[in-house]
Amino acid sequence: MPKRQRHNDSCLGYEVVFTEGNKSTPCCPHGPTLLFEKTRKDGERGRRFFACSACRDRKDCNFFQWEDEKVSEARVLAREAENRLKRPLFSQQQCIARFRQFISLPMDQKKFCGDCQTLLLPQEHSAHACHSCLSVSASELRRPSMLLRPLVDKKSNAQYLFTERTSRFLLETLVGMGFHKVLCVGTPSLHELIKLEKLETPKSKPMKSLLLDIDFRYAQFYSQDEFCHYNMFNHHFFDSEGSSAELQTFLREGDGEKVVMVADPPFGGLVRPLANSFSLMSRTWRTLQKTLTECNMDMPMIWIFPYFFEPRIVECFPKFSMLDYQVDYDNHSLYKHGKTGRKQSPVRLFTNINPSLFVLPKEEGYRFCAICKRYVSSLNKHCAKCKVCPSKDGRQWRHCSLCEKCVKPSWRHCESCSRCALPDHPCGKSSPEKMGCFNCASMDHKRNACPLKRNRSSKRRGKKNVSATCRPIKSKKTTIKQTVLK
Ligand code: SAH
Ligand code: ZN
Ligand code: ZN
Ligand code: ZN
Ligand code: ZN
Repeated sequence: MPKRQRHNDSCLGYEVVFTEGNKSTPCCPHGPTLLFEKTRKDGERGRRFFACSACRDRKDCNFFQWEDEKVSEARVLAREAENRLKRPLFSQQQCIARFRQFISLPMDQKKFCGDCQTLLLPQEHSAHACHSCLSVSASELRRPSMLLRPLVDKKSNAQYLFTERTSRFLLETLVGMGFHKVLCVGTPSLHELIKLEKLETPKSKPMKSLLLDIDFRYAQFYSQDEFCHYNMFNHHFFDSEGSSAELQTFLREGDGEKVVMVADPPFGGLVRPLANSFSLMSRTWRTLQKTLTECNMDMPMIWIFPYFFEPRIVECFPKFSMLDYQVDYDNHSLYKHGKTGRKQSPVRLFTNINPSLFVLPKEEGYRFCAICKRYVSSLNKHCAKCKVCPSKDGRQWRHCSLCEKCVKPSWRHCESCSRCALPDHPCGKSSPEKMGCFNCASMDHKRNACPLKRNRSSKRRGKKNVSATCRPIKSKKTTIKQTVLK
């Protein structure tokens, strides 16, 4: 048997291969696997293998199979048994029935086990007696993202929840644009806010929301038309029949019920598989609109990702543009909004919606550029030569007449490299530098200096990282290293 390859620490990277006709691939507990190909320096084709679409770390999912490998019947059966074993303990239907029972319990019986991350029914209390259990109030029950411990793993993968400021900005912007339905892909706190708003300010036409997430713990709190167990790296619905019906109902735009998708994938995630899933989503949406079947309209989408992925996102979605708005997160000290230093969040909105429709808040340091017709960071000065507001990172960039483009303020033009670079760049050796960062693919720094090697500073509840009942999938934040395309 070939030596099992660790696909997460290569210095060359792997590329995902999409085969013609989307041949089916073997399944791991996270649905169909992806076909990877090792990228080789000499440009030759590397050996291909199937590996998990969702997990970057072999500890979380160790599925591995060479593309040309013969798999015995016995192994196929063993694999199927293992996949079944890794299913959540309760089905979504059971979760819903449990939730109904839970909300009818008297206040002092409403308990949540922090260790197991599960809402408990009275007959289960004794089994969790030595766990850290909490009483849950009705309002806490409406904020599952606060109740559930954000998923973490040692490899810097985790769930990062929007600050209230960011989720309110997103929601108000979408309401302002006239959307009535938000497909929340990996955005549980936005989903939650939409539901809360509906309760607090009942309107004639409230915003609807459907959460698609791989974190099955959320199934404990939502009905079937509010949550689908979904993997955004392979567009896999774990409960295919039920979910697909819910999704179709949601995506079908009734009278003035405009849909928008908001996705906040794990940042280490592979751009191409994500783009592939979002295109499939858009295609489903298109087939459901009576009036659109003939034309090439795309579903309105917002993809939240760090700014240095811009070239790759735009390569996949040429109609997408990146906005200056800095998305910030509650449980990440490096991502907090600010004007200076590392506190500037590198996370942005990528969208196919007209950028001029996004009104970025002046009080947070954005201004309107009348020439570009969009809101930009106040330090992002319009360049008459480039004819754009060029800054990507919120700092003021300056124009280099030799490079004929605007560059970062810290860069200087280097005669021997014939381009602008950091003063201490490895001069004359531009090729290794082209590899960029292996953590996030940015060309601006190496892995050691990566701002996305996130450390967690969560104030949320709970202690341990194990679950006996719901078996949440622990680490989904990042996947296999991407190859740097440009
Ligand atoms: N900022 C968002 C959370 C982003 S963290 C918010 O505040 O709501 C990334 C989210 O994507 C998490 O909810 C995580 O559970 C989900 N996720 C991670 N991997 C996923 C996958 N493969 N498919 C679907 N959802 C995934
Ligand atoms: Zn897997
Ligand atoms: Zn417990
Ligand atoms: Zn310029
Ligand atoms: Zn230059």
